Amino acid sequence: MGKPKALVDKGKCLACGGCISVCPQDAIAMCSSKAIVSKENCIDCGICIQTCPVGAIGNEVH
Ligand code: SF4
Ligand code: SF4
Repeated sequence: MGKPKALVDKGKCLACGGCISVCPQDAIAMCSSKAIVSKENCIDCGICIQTCPVGAIGNEVH
């Protein structure tokens, strides 16, 4: 089992870009107006999870 990584709920994401600007790893990109987390770059710091105004980001264990 790998470490948990941030995962965006595409149904909730409003494409505000807040998570992208706070991610220290530049692990989040916008794709078709939804934020997408790169599992390779994410270090699971949790900053984006706390930043998202609509609670669209959670953890998923890979
Ligand atoms: S948990 Fe941290 S490293 Fe991972 S996507 Fe969110 S802000 Fe970036
Ligand atoms: S902070 Fe939340 S609503 Fe804004 S782009 Fe990121 S996942 Fe989407």
